[in-house]
Amino acid sequence: MTCFFCTRPARGTCRFCGRGLCEDHAGFAPFVLAVYRSHDRERAEALVTEDALSCGTCKPRPQPVPMPELD
Ligand SMILES: [Zn+2]
Ligand SMILES: [Zn+2]
Repeated sequence: MTCFFCTRPARGTCRFCGRGLCEDHAGFAPFVLAVYRSHDRERAEALVTEDALSCGTCKPRPQPVPMPELD
């Protein structure tokens, strides 16, 4: 696999879109690993990693996507 932005070998893939990334083009962004209910079930909590590999080009949608099946 090669980097999406240049022809160097990819060192990893964007966690969000799957593009291949060399070390020059790899960035980091918070990534939600899981969403779950707190023990009292009053709120949803997210397990987030702060340094997921990111291409920096793809962007999360500006508006949250409803997930009614989690309610
Ligand atoms: Zn590159
Ligand atoms: Zn990406």
